[in-house]
Amino acid sequence: MNLRLVSADSVECRAELSLRRFIDIARRVLELGGIDEPVVVEGRRVVDVELCTVLKKLGVRLVPVAERKIRIFVPLEALGFYSDVEPKRFRVFSDTIELLYGNWPTPLVALKSFSLGSVRVWAKLESFNPFSNSIKDRVAWYMFKRWIEERGPIEKLYEASSGNTGIALAAIAAAHGIKARIYIPSTAPKATEVLLRVLGAEVVRSSKSLTVEMIEDVKRDAVRDGAVNLDQFGNDANFEVHLRYTAKELDLQLREAGIVPRAIIVGTGTSGHISALALYFKSRYRGSVKVFGVQPAAGHSIPGLRRIETGVKWIHLVDIDDFLDVTLEEAIENAVEVARREGLIIGISSGAVVAGLRKLLECGALEGDVILVFPDSGFKYIELFEKYLKEKEV
Ligand code: PLP
Repeated sequence: MNLRLVSADSVECRAELSLRRFIDIARRVLELGGIDEPVVVEGRRVVDVELCTVLKKLGVRLVPVAERKIRIFVPLEALGFYSDVEPKRFRVFSDTIELLYGNWPTPLVALKSFSLGSVRVWAKLESFNPFSNSIKDRVAWYMFKRWIEERGPIEKLYEASSGNTGIALAAIAAAHGIKARIYIPSTAPKATEVLLRVLGAEVVRSSKSLTVEMIEDVKRDAVRDGAVNLDQFGNDANFEVHLRYTAKELDLQLREAGIVPRAIIVGTGTSGHISALALYFKSRYRGSVKVFGVQPAAGHSIPGLRRIETGVKWIHLVDIDDFLDVTLEEAIENAVEVARREGLIIGISSGAVVAGLRKLLECGALEGDVILVFPDSGFKYIELFEKYLKEKEV
């Protein structure tokens, strides 16, 4: 038998895969929990470029190679699949960029006051990311890194964002000594504009009220000025970072703690994190995990979230059990409820996820361990909380 495990860094492969093809191959690898035939190589030339590319995108440390096709099962664990999400013990980091990816996993905490009967509720706290204090640090970092690896250096960045992605990109640009210009919608909170300026970014406040309406203007300006537009709405790095890191680290946390997830409840914005979590957990746990999406009710606007019919990219390629509509008021009400019952000041989209949880609990749709993803904390949404408290006089 000529099977060898070689370092992923030493294998050169980069297939031009369609998103659908990437998902199909990744799904099979995750369902199998490994590979059932190695990557065929001829000398240093990789023959199975597609499988090799997918394994590398999933973040294996070792690639199994052989000179010819053989049937052999190699489990993901033997490929160092989890090695890139193992925590750094003493938390000493060489720079602020390493502080981001080196500090993962973000915490997973039980919400005891929301756990009822057979249902145990867990929340993954993405506010523990250092730059925007949100899940968007992951996306900004990976889009930036992938651009540099695949296309070379970046001198200027232009991006449309109503908040977290813009702040994360402005921070990463600052850490690299690069100029960032962030286009924000007319509706973006004052805090976002001030924080972007603190980070040294140029801020362009548009007359348009939705970030998605500004995408084409930003693309045009970037081409005109020779700037890079990473475009979180269309950039597959947004989906891939959650598959390779967010989902995988959550899986590792659950395995280490002996928790078997039965349901995951997640908000949909660009749909990057819900789509990756659905692909990962539905495949790795072979359909025993339900995934629920939370979106703003028609006519409602919840910061960071969008309705799926507004053209989000990845969600249509994965399996979601159901979508729950939540109003802005329900989202804020539930964020306040979490603060008062658990002491955590969570963001509005996190409150929407809790509203989704409570709707599912009411109709008895949940059992066992349920995972919520909280994308950020509540500190950027003071105006919304203030207005709510005034109206409710609580
Ligand atoms: N919640 C907040 C606060 C966000 O900023 C975002 C995205 O911008 C989301 C939820 C949605 O995440 P995703 O874009 O991965 O769907």
